[in-house]
Amino acid sequence: LAVRRVPVVCVALLFSVACTAAHPTPLAEASGSTTSTPSTSVASTTTVPPAALVPWIGPVEHLFFHTLVVRPELAFQRDALGRGFRDYFVTVGEFRAILDQLYANGWTLVDIHHAIVGDVQVPEGRKPFVLSEDDVNYYDYSRPRGQAWRLVLDTSGDVKVEVRDDLGTRITDDDLVPIVDEFVTAHPDFSADGAKGVLGLTGYEGLFGERVNRPSDPDFEGSAERVSALGARLRATGWTLATHSYGHIDLSKVSTARVQRDTDQWKAEAEPLIGSTDVYIYPFGANPGLATTNALKAAGYSIQCNIDSTPRLVQRDGASIMSRRHIDGIAFAQQARHLAPLFDVDAVEDHDARGT
Ligand SMILES: [Zn+2]
Repeated sequence: LAVRRVPVVCVALLFSVACTAAHPTPLAEASGSTTSTPSTSVASTTTVPPAALVPWIGPVEHLFFHTLVVRPELAFQRDALGRGFRDYFVTVGEFRAILDQLYANGWTLVDIHHAIVGDVQVPEGRKPFVLSEDDVNYYDYSRPRGQAWRLVLDTSGDVKVEVRDDLGTRITDDDLVPIVDEFVTAHPDFSADGAKGVLGLTGYEGLFGERVNRPSDPDFEGSAERVSALGARLRATGWTLATHSYGHIDLSKVSTARVQRDTDQWKAEAEPLIGSTDVYIYPFGANPGLATTNALKAAGYSIQCNIDSTPRLVQRDGASIMSRRHIDGIAFAQQARHLAPLFDVDAVEDHDARGT
């Protein structure tokens, strides 16, 4: 089956340029955190029953982000890497504004597994979408460029984001996970059945900002324990963990045997800490050939995600291929009209930070 590729090819190429300029392996970034929030007030409120869920018939949107830009002045500099951040990332403020609009426009988070099998339910009158975040690894190249350092659990067991920069080291909500967790607590009908989103993880610089790829690291045991605890907490609070390959490889350019070795490496390092997953997010959104799709399916990845500017769900020899819209500077510049049912680009874009 032919999966139509739109401007995604450009995204992939541009990204690899930005990435290779800054570090040996393309792309990356990490994200953050969990759900948590004192839910006492919500749980004890018996006067507002949860909205009844009704079946949804039709396509399901899927929006993806990279980890969020915490300090735009560090990320959006006038160099090649800054261009990459402007093109492929959004800021914390932009993400918060997008969430507000998605909620106001009637959208509700659903679990990707329900979307794949066509068993989606939403509060009456609302529309479903899947959310995902790629490269939740907090790569070395991005840490000094206004991005967070790693995910952490706070003293309440909630997932938060550690930021380290010239202002010091601090625990914040400045990435997708804590922001979404808190938003769902405040607006329960923004999530069906407690669904949150999908977190795509490579392995070549560890997981969640912990360098568990380096067994010789003096704090390796501590890192491994923190990753396990984060994975368990994320899964328990509605998040789905996904592989994004080990080395952020372009599946359209490497052999199936190479992909299998890469997959084996991800499984060897990640699964003992965070468990297995059935979701594979293609790096760069690049579609593999059928042999590789089948090899990934055989390795347990029955759900595979590419990129497109419209929602598509294609069955390919038993694997389900779900498209995702990239929400970033390029989408702001080129797809405002297509995004209008989701959010108003002009209202959410930080023109001052971007110089647009
Ligand atoms: Zn990626």
